[in-house]
Amino acid sequence: MNIILFGPPGAGKGTQAKHIVKKYNYFQLSTGDLLRDEITKKTELSEKISKLIDQGEFVTDEIVEDLIIKIINNENYKNRIIFDGYPRNISQVKKLEKILENANQKIDKILYLDVSKDNILKRISGRILCQKCNEILNEFTNKEDLINHKCGTEYFKKRADDNDKTIVKRYDTYMEVTKPVLDYYKSNPNFIKIDGTLKIDEISGKIEEILNV
Ligand code: AMP
Repeated sequence: MNIILFGPPGAGKGTQAKHIVKKYNYFQLSTGDLLRDEITKKTELSEKISKLIDQGEFVTDEIVEDLIIKIINNENYKNRIIFDGYPRNISQVKKLEKILENANQKIDKILYLDVSKDNILKRISGRILCQKCNEILNEFTNKEDLINHKCGTEYFKKRADDNDKTIVKRYDTYMEVTKPVLDYYKSNPNFIKIDGTLKIDEISGKIEEILNV
């Protein structure tokens, strides 16, 4: 089964994708992570990608496609991919359908994490990543978890694009370019809306109920 985790930036897609990976042995295809890896690897595209991400703009469809196609065509990940952050516009929706069809696969579930703009802005501005265990924490909503974190605080890092100006831009881009993707998927029988304002464990529980059927 292939799953799309859909929702605005900061909806909790990454957190829930990591949970599914652990529980069901899935592969998380996060285009944001793949692009950040490209920046770290200092390839010829690094500078271009980094500039766009830092401005809260989308990276070009071609660059993103090149990154995902290798993963979709990898037999090791066949039918156990969670798409996190892809597709993000209608042209990517169509492209994904084609790539999957060519690889004899399809999308089996589209899980939409529904969260309001106010909530999103608060969540993203407080987001902190532990670079050792990859857990995503929040300095506003989970203060206790931060203090008691198992790896200590020395690996904590904020994403460069998690600043107030870029966050608003990313949300606006979502509403303008990505919301039509939501409207497109809404009529799909495999589309399921989940209240993304629930606690992390409650959302994971709901996702498990859906995937266990
Ligand atoms: P994310 O980690 O999903 O929040 O993505 C971080 C940034 O990477 C986004 O703001 C975009 O600049 C870029 N990005 C991620 N996924 C895509 C995509 N599917 N298409 C274009 N740009 C993307």
